[in-house]
Amino acid sequence: PARTRVAPSPTGDPHVGTAFMALFDLAWARRTGGRFVLRIEDTDQNRLVPGSEAQIYESLDWLGLSPDESPAVGGPFAPYKQSERLETYRPFVEQLIEQGHAYYCWCSQERLAELRDEQNRQKLSTTGYDRLCVGKTREERAELPGFTETPVVRMLIPDDAPLEFDDIIRGTVKAPRPDDQVILKADGFPTYHLAVVVDDHLMDINTVVRGEEWISSTPKHILLYRWLGWELPAFAHMPLLRNTDKSKISKRKNPAARLMWFKEQGYLPEAVRNFLQLLGYAGDEEREVSTFEEFVENFAWSKVNTVGPIFDLKKLDWLNGHYIRSLSADELADRIAAFASDTGQWVDPNDEQLAVLRQAVPIIQERLVLLKDAVPQLDYLLGSDANLVIDPEAIAALPENAAEVLDAAIAVTENVAFDAESIQAGLRERIVEGMGIKPKFAFAPIRVAVSGRRVSPPLFESMEILGRDSSLTRLRSLRA
Ligand code: ATP
Ligand code: GLU
Repeated sequence: PARTRVAPSPTGDPHVGTAFMALFDLAWARRTGGRFVLRIEDTDQNRLVPGSEAQIYESLDWLGLSPDESPAVGGPFAPYKQSERLETYRPFVEQLIEQGHAYYCWCSQERLAELRDEQNRQKLSTTGYDRLCVGKTREERAELPGFTETPVVRMLIPDDAPLEFDDIIRGTVKAPRPDDQVILKADGFPTYHLAVVVDDHLMDINTVVRGEEWISSTPKHILLYRWLGWELPAFAHMPLLRNTDKSKISKRKNPAARLMWFKEQGYLPEAVRNFLQLLGYAGDEEREVSTFEEFVENFAWSKVNTVGPIFDLKKLDWLNGHYIRSLSADELADRIAAFASDTGQWVDPNDEQLAVLRQAVPIIQERLVLLKDAVPQLDYLLGSDANLVIDPEAIAALPENAAEVLDAAIAVTENVAFDAESIQAGLRERIVEGMGIKPKFAFAPIRVAVSGRRVSPPLFESMEILGRDSSLTRLRSLRA
């Protein structure tokens, strides 16, 4: 059974890439009867953003990608947060120093910056730390310039460092030779590279799924596993998601890189999850719509495309429309109401309004793309007659004979049986056939009266939902 993990850093709004990795982690864990772990990697204390960690839990739960073990739900390998594991890392650092695989480095930030500048100026092919501190005691080093009191610990990368490794998606992968990586910082916190290896080992993780930007770090991790005498996990480096212009999506450039954005827009979590499934298997168009269970059943690493999948929101919109249509009208109404009150779009709806929403949902369900559009589309049905807002442009565009049409519509509305079909038949007979007015001009004034707009959801259904009294009030109000 696989033990997989996603290991986000709580440094801002959760990234859609985190959900993408989590989806594959969870699918592989389910497929093999294993477990999916969420670990919080918060060793970079300068970059922590309050609230970020809570949003990570919330967004993964929202997508149905809840971990089996995490700081929030606990588990046999707790704690799952790196800042709570500092004592765990130290003995391994000491062991590596004793074995000669790691060394203290007292070089100051200024010295390292000068070294980099100098290497850039000379366009040297081998860049990186020059190993000034290797083999020196603190006293010996203190004699030389660019010394600082609190040292870091670096890996001593050997000449024969392994630069090739097996990846379960990519086969044999080659990475560049690493620099003498810092593994323990001056503040006593481990860097990502040490912490990720120690934790993956201690938490029994046997399949490491992560973004391809970590390929170049993998040789360092492999060395650490080797030095510490631990078995290597399998590595699966996923492609990075790309914008339509092929650039990698990042939160700075694309709002859709933020996982919460999808929730805010009113995408359904099942549509987003399905979209991420498709992105992983880009090119496999056979079955675009599939449940998570089907995804798990047909899961194969060999299907994962290594070319960065294009993040095409048109496809997501299409999927969202599909999932919206597949809900029952009542379910959809519940989702719309929950969305609208969570986002403050619809404050404290009362029972009567909720009942109207349930009646009204079928008239927009066919064409609705995002939950956030539902309440604005239906607001003329959800509010009172007195509060109806009439678009001035709709009034300006009324045909000349609008008054005549409204009088006729009022007469019909007073007497006709009040279901959409009868309303339509009655209005047609009286105004289109009886008065010889084209349907376009016949119904435009009625629509403006009922909805306040030139374009609205279906008119006769809207009248049926409003009921006779309310429809009459609105027709009379525009006529006046
Ligand atoms: P920024 O928005 O500041 O550019 P970023 O978008 O590159 O940052 P990071 O904070 O660097 O995001 O990364 C957060 C997580 O998201 C990392 O685990 C990283 O692997 C993943 N990630 C970043 N970009 C992508 C991407 N384009 N596709 C998939 N995963 C990504
Ligand atoms: N903390 C790293 C990140 O935020 C985890 C990378 C990994 O999965 O190894 O991307």
